[in-house]
Amino acid sequence: MVPDAAGGLCAERLQYAASMSDPSPARALATAEILSIGSELLVGETRDTNSGDVAAALADQGVAVRRIQALPDELTMVCAAFVQAMSTVDLVVSTGGLGPTPDDLTREAIATALGEVPVIDPTLETWLRGRWTRRRLPFPAINLKQAWLIPSAVAIPNENGTAPGWWVDRGSGPIVVALPGPPREMRPMWEGWVLPRLATEGLGVPRDVRTLRLSGIGESQLADRLGDDILRSNNPMVATYARSDAVDVRISAVDEPGRGAASPADPGSQPRAAAELADEAEARIMAVAGNHVWARGATTWPMAIDAALAGRGWTLAIVETGAGGSVAGLLGTLDGLAVAEVRSKRSRGLATRAHMIRIAREQAATAGADVGLAVEAVEQRGDLRVTIGVAAPDGDHVERRTAFLSGDQGRARVAVAAADVLLAVLRRSAPIG
Ligand code: AMP
Ligand code: MG
Repeated sequence: MVPDAAGGLCAERLQYAASMSDPSPARALATAEILSIGSELLVGETRDTNSGDVAAALADQGVAVRRIQALPDELTMVCAAFVQAMSTVDLVVSTGGLGPTPDDLTREAIATALGEVPVIDPTLETWLRGRWTRRRLPFPAINLKQAWLIPSAVAIPNENGTAPGWWVDRGSGPIVVALPGPPREMRPMWEGWVLPRLATEGLGVPRDVRTLRLSGIGESQLADRLGDDILRSNNPMVATYARSDAVDVRISAVDEPGRGAASPADPGSQPRAAAELADEAEARIMAVAGNHVWARGATTWPMAIDAALAGRGWTLAIVETGAGGSVAGLLGTLDGLAVAEVRSKRSRGLATRAHMIRIAREQAATAGADVGLAVEAVEQRGDLRVTIGVAAPDGDHVERRTAFLSGDQGRARVAVAAADVLLAVLRRSAPIG
């Protein structure tokens, strides 16, 4: 016997959900919400990796994820969250709460939110019982609820556990996908079953995403230059991320609604394509901060510097002092690296420019490399002052930078500053073509 799910706990909300309607027959899944269900998430016992995985995959398909929520195993809260999400977005994905124990309440919550009653599905029951019979173990009655389905749900097969997922589609209104919490069960179901099926439902809209990687400018300084209007725009969406090796600016745009439909009476009013919108945003960013852009996409410092070294046919030798090996740590994987020497001697004061060039040259000569990079960091009032010398076949260059903060974070910034200066030198008057 299946209990009357939530016993009317979410009743008020139910009407709201029941009145949902979708005016467009050709459904495009443009927006989504993710619910991560499990009290263990709210005490920090389990890190919520599921929502990030699901969000990344959806964003990749051009779906705008509007909200991610972590929820305790409490029926009213979970039910209310489903109702709220169902009345807001085109797709609701939940993970967790599909276990056999009484605290796992996702099925009950969805059933209640939709006003449907779960029944035991005979096919699921046979499959589920089979998992125990094969091992000659008695079937625990508690697991029977993992064979439940509501009329508008189909089961999502789970090959790595006993909790099938639910694919809930009432023909109109949002699609609801419920997946189990354990990532090793959730991921294959999501990638192997749910994503392909969502694709056939019209997942996302054409979009254009690009990332510019900047250095030598702080996130807030960059935000200042970009201005509020561009950072608040929904399409194109421009967001800045302060990462350890760069400030990234992510531009994402989707085709404007109606794009691709029959040509409008006024051709000038044709909705614009994602690429056009992204181009425009990129041009604006380049105009105010283009000199700070050192790479695009997922390019790392070693990748950019390797490409620049290869372009000149040069090899590199590094010597660093006072930076705790951070420069070697950042650039140690370079193909064109002859040697990276870490000196631990603490310098008493700022190295002179002449000194930095001299040791850069010496290091290159000793290693038989074309380019020498010498980096020396000194702590000054809580920050690291760094002197960077580059001795290259086409001339020398010395530059001083301040890496804000000391300790590991400051040293990591020293390495980025050194990479930045080196890359600029390598790209300087690089042969065209
Ligand atoms: P379930 O029985 O479906 O509630 O799943 C519970 C198990 O899945 C727990 O052992 C958690 O460690 C794991 N889990 C639940 N939610 C998440 C999540 N959002 N991210 C990562 N692991 C999770
Ligand atoms: Mg749980």
